[in-house]
Amino acid sequence: MLVLLGAVGAGKGTQASIIARERGLLHLATGDLFRRALRDGTPLGEVARGYMRRGELVPDEITIRMVAEVLASPSARAGVVFDGFPRTLAQAQALDALVAEHGTGISRAVLIDVPEDVLVARVAGRWVCPQCDTPYHLTDDPPRQPGVCDRDGAALVQREDDRPEVFRARLREQLPPLDDVVAYYADRGLLTRVDGRQPVEAVTAATLAAADGDILP
Ligand code: AMP
Repeated sequence: MLVLLGAVGAGKGTQASIIARERGLLHLATGDLFRRALRDGTPLGEVARGYMRRGELVPDEITIRMVAEVLASPSARAGVVFDGFPRTLAQAQALDALVAEHGTGISRAVLIDVPEDVLVARVAGRWVCPQCDTPYHLTDDPPRQPGVCDRDGAALVQREDDRPEVFRARLREQLPPLDDVVAYYADRGLLTRVDGRQPVEAVTAATLAAADGDILP
């Protein structure tokens, strides 16, 4: 049970998908789950739509219930890498209770640390596959063929909430509660900070080393 923390654009999604693949873990990305629900037109998607459009967090109760359902499914049995959850103190506390119910605990929380000005520049170049949610970056992590997903060939799109004004709102809204979550794991001796300005491979290596207990907080 590995938690990846970081601001919008820090590279959590990229790292979580690599680590999940390498370690055979479930990649549980709450943002992806909300976007899928939106695409499928489910009641959950309808509720999440307004919050996501405004760059706000979806209320804790709804988010926690969604995560609880995934954790109860067989797909979570081999272990989970959490991406974009928890994002508030209440979510972090709820996650501890949920994993305890399944007889386990959070093994490590890794903060992928990136300064704000770097985040703004990064998100401007971010493109994503509308089918499978694989993220790409124009310069840092481009697809093999420009504008096309490596995995399923779909045409890449820019996320509506990556537009500059929504992105700034997301940072304003989401950074203070993230600080609480970082403090929560630091207090428990579970936090490792990784410099997220490094190349993707170096961040992966540092995150895996932290997950394996090779890097102490
Ligand atoms: P992300 O792809 O992780 O940046 O998430 C996209 C949007 O989904 C966020 O801006 C929130 O509106 C919503 N969201 C994702 N994860 C959470 C969470 N843990 N708590 C509340 N809202 C979330």
